[in-house]
Amino acid sequence: LFLDQFTTTLPGMRVRFGAGVRHKVGEEMDTLGLSRALILTTPQQADTGAEFAALLGPRAAGVFPKAAMHTPIAISEEATALALESGADCLLAIGGGSTTGLGKAIALRTDLPQIVIPTTYAGSEATAILGQTENGQKTTITTPKVRPEVILYDAELVRTLPVSMTVTSALNAMAHAAEGLYAQNRSPVSTLMAIEGLRAFHDALPRVLDTPDDLHARGETLYGAWLCGTVLGTVGMALHHKLCHTLGGSFDLPHAETHAIILPHAIAYNETAAARELAPINEIFGGIRPGQALHAFATSMKAPTALRDLGLREADLDRAVDLATRNPYWNPRSVTPTALRRLLQDALEGREP
Ligand code: NAD
Repeated sequence: LFLDQFTTTLPGMRVRFGAGVRHKVGEEMDTLGLSRALILTTPQQADTGAEFAALLGPRAAGVFPKAAMHTPIAISEEATALALESGADCLLAIGGGSTTGLGKAIALRTDLPQIVIPTTYAGSEATAILGQTENGQKTTITTPKVRPEVILYDAELVRTLPVSMTVTSALNAMAHAAEGLYAQNRSPVSTLMAIEGLRAFHDALPRVLDTPDDLHARGETLYGAWLCGTVLGTVGMALHHKLCHTLGGSFDLPHAETHAIILPHAIAYNETAAARELAPINEIFGGIRPGQALHAFATSMKAPTALRDLGLREADLDRAVDLATRNPYWNPRSVTPTALRRLLQDALEGREP
């Protein structure tokens, strides 16, 4: 893993793991000298928000259960106003990437510290990246202001994640690690984290699917999510993430499912140009080619494989290619419209890459 030259900035972030660790949220607030938390959830997880309000008692400044996909600015502004009015001195985000995104958006506007309790594997809690949308346009900013202060990974809270979302969210996380393996600005430590994150999902995801209540296996998938999210937050991403960003932002395809479908194709696209860097994928998942090995793992987990099933049409592909090649970015293999069109056609139809 050693590289002759590398530069890395490792963030100072407090992370706690354990079934039931959510009950330590008050302790964490004490450590940071905080007294009132505004609780954030999606509408679907409002009950969980209410449970946390009961747990915190007078230390809950209120519950804002309106987090939504892609962090719409109007919702962030409404939540920011509530945070200021309620006298909250911190934010407690409980949920997936959408809820974490809302906490980050409020932190950007107020500098309030954030405690995040993730309930999917998206990994946003481990990055200083915030994507926001306004008038159908998605913009991304990276600033230490949005990096959460504390993460509590509680396996008991991911038990309720439905099996289909468990699989797609896991593949979403694995994509951060897979692209991290060939990142130009990788370090030996980011590569270690990527390999260990992929290994954790390889070992634990089948056990979670067999027994969704298995807290040890759920904990190990959260461990994978943390490692993969940290890789996302530490090194640059390439073709896979750019393509998923285009498909999500311009065609409104669902986040985790899109990542799950594109991952084997994007890795297959880069596997000759980055053969040495991607070799750990075959060491972990078997197979001969990395893209094919990830495809086999995804299908064995019954992940979706065809973009058509998410609502993308053949007629959309040329525009997708145009959008995804408009702003050039670094990738191990050059991204040409013809090759990308072929990749998207395969992903549309759910072919093995
Ligand atoms: P999500 O947060 O939108 O969650 C999807 C649905 O699942 C929601 O209804 C949510 O309430 C529900 N849910 C979450 N956890 C659950 C659980 N344990 N049990 C039952 N239901 C549960 O989806 P996501 O895939 O976690 O996040 C996607 C969003 O995160 C996208 O907007 C994406 O751009 C963003 N994201 C950002 C970063 C970053 O670094 N900025 C990284 C990854 C993802």
